[in-house]
Amino acid sequence: MFDAVPATSATRVHPALQPVVEFDADLIARLSRNGPRYTSYPTADRFTESFGYRDFLHAVADLRTRGGGKPLSLYLHIPFCDTVCYYCACNKIVTKNREKAATYLAYLKREVEMQGRLFAGMNEVEQLHFGGGTPTYLSDAQMEDLMAHLRRCFRFAPDAAGEYSIEIDPRTVSAERVHGLRRQGFNRISLGVQDFDPDVQRAVNRIQPEAETRAIIAAARDADFRSVSIDLIYGLPKQTPATMRTTLDKVIDAAPDRIAMYHYAHLPHLFKPQRRIDEADMPDSDTKLRMLQLCIERLTAAGYVYIGMDHFARPDDDLAIAQQQGRLHRNFQGYSTHADADLVACGVSAIGAVGATYSQNVKTLDAYYDALDRNELPVARGARLSMDDALRRTIIQKLMCQFELSISAIELAFPIAFHAYFAREMAQLAGLERDGLVELAPDWISVTLKGRLLIRNVCMVFDRYLATRGPATHSRTV
Ligand code: SF4
Repeated sequence: MFDAVPATSATRVHPALQPVVEFDADLIARLSRNGPRYTSYPTADRFTESFGYRDFLHAVADLRTRGGGKPLSLYLHIPFCDTVCYYCACNKIVTKNREKAATYLAYLKREVEMQGRLFAGMNEVEQLHFGGGTPTYLSDAQMEDLMAHLRRCFRFAPDAAGEYSIEIDPRTVSAERVHGLRRQGFNRISLGVQDFDPDVQRAVNRIQPEAETRAIIAAARDADFRSVSIDLIYGLPKQTPATMRTTLDKVIDAAPDRIAMYHYAHLPHLFKPQRRIDEADMPDSDTKLRMLQLCIERLTAAGYVYIGMDHFARPDDDLAIAQQQGRLHRNFQGYSTHADADLVACGVSAIGAVGATYSQNVKTLDAYYDALDRNELPVARGARLSMDDALRRTIIQKLMCQFELSISAIELAFPIAFHAYFAREMAQLAGLERDGLVELAPDWISVTLKGRLLIRNVCMVFDRYLATRGPATHSRTV
């Protein structure tokens, strides 16, 4: 295993304490290009089928040999949705047949039990995340049953010490259900909103009355969720700066703790539902940039801190505090405050990260059920990180989360002379410095305020695999 990188020098003014981000339309228009979101490195499109179930077992055995001291993070994937949103790029199954969820739940519990046995006696779970699809496609009783099963199979940290979150679709839950989720153990909730404008909602086939969403936010506050998060998307059909301004006013008024503002990547050749979007309704690049600028200006003026990539948080939220303290981490669910957890992922297509490996489950229900019927974990592919991968992963993490990198800290943690090892990358960074994205000092790489929105461009310099990957599989960096 590789050592952790020492903390940022206390003598420097931490970037999170400086003004958060600067919008430079010319720079973004000139430099934005397709690139990964770096929820992992190597990115999931680099995983191979040469990594399978047995490699995963070895990775867990390695952990056990080393004492298995890290906390655990659990991810549960519920792939079902009632209806399809046209912008969707997720791995989901659209069905109204609830029987399918009952069968899936039975198999998911089997996988949870197998994983629980593998990790028995290691550390406790400090983080739990339900994603999808639509996790609340499961009924209240099914969720209750699954949560009880998880608690039988794993030891959980107490509510105050753990981050237990669920993505909800406000169209699928009542205020009563929200209270139920809190009682079942969730303490963070994230709501898919995307846009409050009715025309935009119609254009993407996601009709979600504002009053309904606000009632769910109120219920979450009432039920004492520690954090309420809202997901928005810019770049959707029918969106204009005017509709965006109205939506932002409503969001700010609803006062969530965190806001994720995703860029819609229109890739109809890859994602079938997107073919149902009328291209004539799509905002052009210039309009998208104006909307992004508006989002940044409105949210920061309302007191939100820019965390990085697409995320904003109130200054007293754990994410903002973790960033100030240099403890922010990035994983498949985005930014996180739990840096050093091993991620155990259950469910179809779910991606885990254990020790120096990544593993992804099979993507179809049939393959998932077949593997579990053979009493095998349904691992389809993955990656075992080399020293070079681990080094680059650490660098990308630091840049994504802290917007700066201490070169001597990297040299302390890894057996390299940084400038010699990364001669090619440093030459590329010098180009980005001329563009104003980074500042280079003998021991520091710092991302400028206007470079923060293009952080993916900076990280891409350190991605060894990019040269062999087609550009169209990733969304634009802004
Ligand atoms: S966006 Fe979410 S709710 Fe809509 S179809 Fe995709 S996974 Fe389902």
